[in-house]
Amino acid sequence: MHSLFDLSGRKALITGSSQGIGLAIARGLASAGAEVVLNGRDPAKTEAAAQALRTAGFMATASAFDVTKVAAVRAAVEAIEAAGPIGILVNNAGIQHRAPMVDFPEAEYHRVMTTNVDSVFFVAQAVGRGMVKRGRGKIINIGSLMSELGRANIVPYTASKGAVKLMTRALCAEWGKHNIQVNGIGPGYIETEMNKALIDDTVFNAWVCGRTPAGRWAKVDELVGAAIFLAAPASDYINGHMLMVDGGMSAVV
Ligand code: NAP
Repeated sequence: MHSLFDLSGRKALITGSSQGIGLAIARGLASAGAEVVLNGRDPAKTEAAAQALRTAGFMATASAFDVTKVAAVRAAVEAIEAAGPIGILVNNAGIQHRAPMVDFPEAEYHRVMTTNVDSVFFVAQAVGRGMVKRGRGKIINIGSLMSELGRANIVPYTASKGAVKLMTRALCAEWGKHNIQVNGIGPGYIETEMNKALIDDTVFNAWVCGRTPAGRWAKVDELVGAAIFLAAPASDYINGHMLMVDGGMSAVV
């Protein structure tokens, strides 16, 4: 492995990593040498995912907590750091809710915003305090194609991912001087549980493939290279950037 991409000796917390994109990123960071801490709300599922990584020969533990509960976030970060500092944070936990604007339920609006936006703020704050003291850190916020573009029936999600992009820049502005790089990844259409209904919808599936220059959905593993890059010394002078991993979709009309 090239030293620019070597994560040996670094501990990474990846929120929402008991499945999907978060789990793929966790496995990828572990394959580059990091010790990974998996997270999700379900303790059994999170531990099972960590166990599977350990069985594959990686260093992995589980820390189940709800990223929307600030007290739980602070307690979990303190417990994780008691065993060593978190050098890499991936704010990945996020949810979607689709409904027309006129019918969008108030509770779902708040659930999307607290999960996708508040969590990035409060987890970054809890982990960032230690990074600022140590003068070193990498934070990767998972945005979306919707950090750049709008789409009907997902107004709160689109607003939340736009906020993730600008929070990434604001954190870069505040913490760049502490040698902390805060960047984002903007996934396009990725084959995951979150998108199962869309993949099974033949009309939508054809639209994604036709609208994406790559002509297809991405596999979750295709986000791993960007995650390793933004967690590694290779990106030490890259800050406040949202790296789109979308098969070119946001580049074309
Ligand atoms: P997913 O398959 O639904 O997985 C979400 C993960 O987050 C699960 O591990 C889930 O575990 C956890 N989670 C959800 N709410 C949580 C909470 N409050 N506290 C802690 N963990 C929580 O989602 P995904 O498709 O991998 O998406 C991951 C991220 O990528 C999200 O930010 C999403 O917006 C973004 N993204 C996805 C796509 C895509 O095409 N899939 C495209 C662009 C961006 P529990 O339910 O057990 O808590």
